[in-house]
Amino acid sequence: MFFSLVLMSVESVDLHCHSTASDGTFAPEDVVRLAKRSNLVGLALTDHDTIAGLPAAAAEAKTLGLLFLPGIEISCTYPQPGTMHLLGYGIDPDSPVLRDMTRGLIEARDNRNPRIVARLNELGVAITMADVEAEANGGVVGRPHIAAVLVRKGYVSAIKHAFDKYLGQGANAYFDKERLAPRRAIELIKQSGGLVVLAHPVQLRTENDAQLQRAIKDLVDMGLDGLEVIHSDHDAALVEKYIRLADRYHLLKTGGSDFHGQNKKDIQLGTANGRRIPRQFLDHLLEKLRAPRKAPA
Ligand code: AMP
Ligand code: ZN
Ligand code: FE
Ligand code: FE
Repeated sequence: MFFSLVLMSVESVDLHCHSTASDGTFAPEDVVRLAKRSNLVGLALTDHDTIAGLPAAAAEAKTLGLLFLPGIEISCTYPQPGTMHLLGYGIDPDSPVLRDMTRGLIEARDNRNPRIVARLNELGVAITMADVEAEANGGVVGRPHIAAVLVRKGYVSAIKHAFDKYLGQGANAYFDKERLAPRRAIELIKQSGGLVVLAHPVQLRTENDAQLQRAIKDLVDMGLDGLEVIHSDHDAALVEKYIRLADRYHLLKTGGSDFHGQNKKDIQLGTANGRRIPRQFLDHLLEKLRAPRKAPA
C-alpha cells in the first residue's frame, strides 16, 4: 500500500523529445519504448516541423499502455541572439492546415541546408548534401545531421563543436531559414486543434525580467496556452521563475528533456537537468484539450 502510494506520487512524463522523424536518433516507436523502460507514464513527441513520427509513436504507446500526446516544435522569428520555439500539443494529424504548414517549413529547410553545405565546402570541409540526407535517413533535415556528418568525417570531435565552429548562430557556416512569425505559428497550431506552449524560455535570451515578461505577455495576447517551465537548459532558479510567470499569466506548465538520442548525448529521456516532469503537467494539457474551446478566427 505504502509502496503504491509512493509510486503514484512520482509518476512522471516527458513532453518534449525528438525522433528520427526530425533530428533525434531513436525511431519514434523506440522513443516510446525507452519512455516505458524509463518508468514514464506518458510522452509527447515534438519533432521539428513534422508530424511524420506521430502515428508510429502513438501505436507503440497504445501497445505499451502509455499516455501519448501528439506534438510538434516550430522555430519562430525572434531577434538575435535569442531563439523562440513554440510547441504545439494535441494537434490533429489529419489537419490540412498542419499539412500545409509543415510542407512550407520543410521547404524553408530545403532552401537553407544546401547553402550551409556550400559554405562548408568553401571552408575546405568536403561534405555533400547526399551525406547529410543519408544521415537524416528520410527525416526532416536539421543542423544536427550536418553536425553528425562533420563528426563522422573527423572535422570536429563532437556535435557541440560543430555548432561552435561552423553551424551555430554567428559561426562561419550559419544560415537562417525562413521562419513563421509567432503570431502566425500560434494561429496555425490553434487551427490544427492544438495548444501552444513557449518552449525553453531561457533560449529567448532576454536581457532582464521586464523584457521576458513583455515577450510572454505578447504571446499570451496572441493566444499562448502554456510555458515550458522544466527543461534541460533550466536550473532550479529558472524553473522557479518560470513557474511564477506561468501562474501570473494563468498559463499551463509543461516540461520536457528535449531528448535527441545520440545527437545530444548528455540528455536522458524523462530527465531535465536532474528533474523529472510531473504527470499533472500532461493531465492539465489533456483537460484543456478536452474542454470546449472558442473556434480560432
Ligand atoms: P535547425 O532546426 O536545423 O536549425 O537545428 C536546430 C537544432 O539544432 C536545435 O533544435 C537543436 O537540436 C540543435 N542545436 C542548436 N544549437 C545547438 C548547439 N549549440 N549545440 C548543439 N545542438 C544545437
Ligand atoms: Zn532538435
Ligand atoms: Fe527547441
Ligand atoms: Fe526540441
